[in-house]
Amino acid sequence: MANTETSTDAVGEREHPDKSQLAVEEAQAEAEATGTPKPGQRAEVSNLDIVHFYFNAACDRLGLSDDLRVVFWAPYREVTVQIPIRLPDGKVHVYSGYRIQHNGARGPYKGGIRFHPEVDIDEVRALASLMTWKTAVAGVPYGGAKGGVNCPAGRLDPVDVQKIARSFMDKVEKILGPTRDIAAPDVNTNAQVMAWMMDEYGKLHGHTPAIVTGKPIALEGSYGREAATGRGCVYMFREAAPHLGLSPADTTFVVQGYGNVGSWAARIMQQLGAKMVGVSDASGAIRGDAGIDANALHDHIVQGGRLTEFEGGEQLPASDLISIPCDVFIPAALGGMIHEGNAADMQCKVILEGANSPTTPMADQILREKDVYIIPDVMANAGGVVVSYFEWVQNLQHFRWDEREVNDKLGTIMRRAYREVSSRAREEGIDLREAAYLVGIERVVEAARTRGYV
Ligand code: NAD
Repeated sequence: MANTETSTDAVGEREHPDKSQLAVEEAQAEAEATGTPKPGQRAEVSNLDIVHFYFNAACDRLGLSDDLRVVFWAPYREVTVQIPIRLPDGKVHVYSGYRIQHNGARGPYKGGIRFHPEVDIDEVRALASLMTWKTAVAGVPYGGAKGGVNCPAGRLDPVDVQKIARSFMDKVEKILGPTRDIAAPDVNTNAQVMAWMMDEYGKLHGHTPAIVTGKPIALEGSYGREAATGRGCVYMFREAAPHLGLSPADTTFVVQGYGNVGSWAARIMQQLGAKMVGVSDASGAIRGDAGIDANALHDHIVQGGRLTEFEGGEQLPASDLISIPCDVFIPAALGGMIHEGNAADMQCKVILEGANSPTTPMADQILREKDVYIIPDVMANAGGVVVSYFEWVQNLQHFRWDEREVNDKLGTIMRRAYREVSSRAREEGIDLREAAYLVGIERVVEAARTRGYV
């Protein structure tokens, strides 16, 4: 079994052998300047450790042999590229870009591309592996992949982000393709970044919208894709709520990370009548026991305001967000933010994992002992890849569905995944996370066996 030891040292002190010195210094300066992540706020256990632990636990239960574990744990292909770019300070900054194709037994590789100073090859490996299990749990015909560039995209001019996006696509396009590997947005990459990547790929291969998903509507993006991950989380919660004695209209919730996933989850929860009582982003946290208006907060941020300056809530230290009493806590920022240093402080009934790998194994154990019901990332945040799948299907046919059709189809898939995983959990007397990994791994192993890979 994987080691569950985790510590809470500052992330900025980790070694980064694959980053340029300038990029390491930038990452450290960013952690210093923004306090993100702060010591004790995010655990030092890596995303790779987290996914490996859950993978191993499920393999133990399935009785998967050691040789097959190697096949299904190790990525199929890993590509690292150099992205040098001259920034307004006059210096050439060298970033590393990664595309990792984890497992393609069930279909073309599929996964987002993250731009963040803390990206490293292990993080991308972890996220790629998680995609393999996630697409299998959702039952969409894809394998798992992930990409990333360790650049501080949040602080760069759009013109420089565009250069990085195009350069990255130029360097990895040989292993991508609409029937090989299809990219998508993730942290700090959005529809605009996908448009640049599609355009760059098109220069070499002709117009190929199906090469990336999460594109703008004007460029064959799908209605409903932008909201899909947050909406999918809410579909899962609605499915679970009656069994937990919760009614969405009377639910209070807290959101950690108010970007794409967090803000959409919050706005859709609010549509159901639920009340947001705390929220954070990289700038800090606010709370409001009478309710923070999710729509007004979103507009405030879109107009360039800082979350901490929003008038509808009172500021509190970011690390205190975790202990706000609520029914549902929605982590929607980075990995490892719920760890053994803060899990015991949580005062929620449900954790709805919008982020990838937000909960370390030690925290998971503490929360289980506190009877907190966790709807894990590997199923809860699959809505993004499900609607990416719809976008790809539409692109291959140059056809378009309306938003209601997309949302209805998303709901059908998310509800089915919840029922399949929760009935497996009941049958085996295990939690949802372990059951989801079991279901995902079984499906991938079966596909690999049927193809004759193993
Ligand atoms: P995003 O860049 O749109 O938003 C990230 C948010 O997290 C921002 O508001 C940022 O300020 C905040 N943040 C960063 N550090 C923080 C900290 N220390 N404390 C609190 N907030 C912090 O990214 P996103 O696309 O919303 O992705 C969020 C998470 O969801 C990631 O883990 C991502 O892998 C996962 N995810 C995203 C999708 C998708 O479709 N976008 C799909 C599945 C999973």
